Amino acid sequence: MTNGGKTVALVVAAGSGSRAGGAVPKQYALLQGKPLLAHALDRLRHPLIDEVHVVIGPGQEDLYGRATEGRALPSPILGGETRQKSVRNGLEALAAGNAPEFVLIHDAARPFVPGVVIERLTASLQGHDGAVPALPVADSLAKGDTRLGDGVSRENILRIQTPQAFRFRSILAAHRQWSGNADATDDAQVARAAGYEVAIVAGDPLLDKLTYATDFALAEARLAASLISRTGIGFDVHAFADGEELWLGGLRIPHDRGLAGHSDADVALHALTDALLGAIGEGDIGDHFPPSDPQWRGAPSSRFLEHTRDLVEKRGGRIDHVDITIICEQPKIGPHRQAMRETIAALLRLQPRSVSVKATTSERMGFTGRGEGIAAQAVATVRVPEE
Ligand code: MG
Repeated sequence: MTNGGKTVALVVAAGSGSRAGGAVPKQYALLQGKPLLAHALDRLRHPLIDEVHVVIGPGQEDLYGRATEGRALPSPILGGETRQKSVRNGLEALAAGNAPEFVLIHDAARPFVPGVVIERLTASLQGHDGAVPALPVADSLAKGDTRLGDGVSRENILRIQTPQAFRFRSILAAHRQWSGNADATDDAQVARAAGYEVAIVAGDPLLDKLTYATDFALAEARLAASLISRTGIGFDVHAFADGEELWLGGLRIPHDRGLAGHSDADVALHALTDALLGAIGEGDIGDHFPPSDPQWRGAPSSRFLEHTRDLVEKRGGRIDHVDITIICEQPKIGPHRQAMRETIAALLRLQPRSVSVKATTSERMGFTGRGEGIAAQAVATVRVPEE
């Protein structure tokens, strides 16, 4: 990193509060299907940050495990009864290992961390013990409980956000000697109480803490607006064979012949799986479920589709619509069309109106026309976060 020393992000995710109204502490509440903590961790993946450590509350191990699935992270650190104690535990754990030179302490309830703020903070540490992002206050301020009291000047009043960046030795010493309010709400006040100077860098509205249900609704809308649309196309063919069951569109269709293939050979679900993989740029069905792998022998193609749906969700994406065309002379698709739509919708967790199934013959021409096999085409429209 530019400052020359190891930099660790320490994410405080130990709170038990759920003022947002959810069943779990808010750092584990879902935003577009992804826990807040996971959003924050993904945004802290930055070239200036060497490691990320998380402080969790007692009993939150399972929530943490699910929220961080698929991310290579060191074991979580157990927090204390207050935020200050949780941070202190985090710093002590870092001190006991290969201690960093710089630490960015961040609240998991602020899921969007702009890279530019990380850059401002680390640059500011060159000349200061600490640095915090801050924003001016736009609203009028006043005292009051049930009635409005005196106004308070906004002059020199700042909203302080996280991450807050410190020289590690300074903030560790400050927390060790802290004797102030057990409810210290941020680390800058702990640093200042110990005599360290804390610089201010420009904060960002994206860093605002999510506390209430309305904050989550706003963040959902913000994320949805930042998604970009992608379209993928898929095509597949399987030959008829005697002695096989016919699986098509996720259904077993009564027919005198089935399709040959290493899985259940559901040509419609294969085309659809490829369309979805194409939309998120994740290769093709053969990459994910190689025919050479015995575990896919006879496998229901619904598993391929569900796995691909999970890949889209992991990317923070959502499936908007899929459209399939099945090309064959026999069997007749019409009688099964609605059941296929409902089956595929359930597999993709969509409404049936977002799933279209169509069929055509090839006018007795070509391999489908001669009844040698079935072909299928699919188009998928998904929205994914902009990289
Ligand atoms: Mg296939």
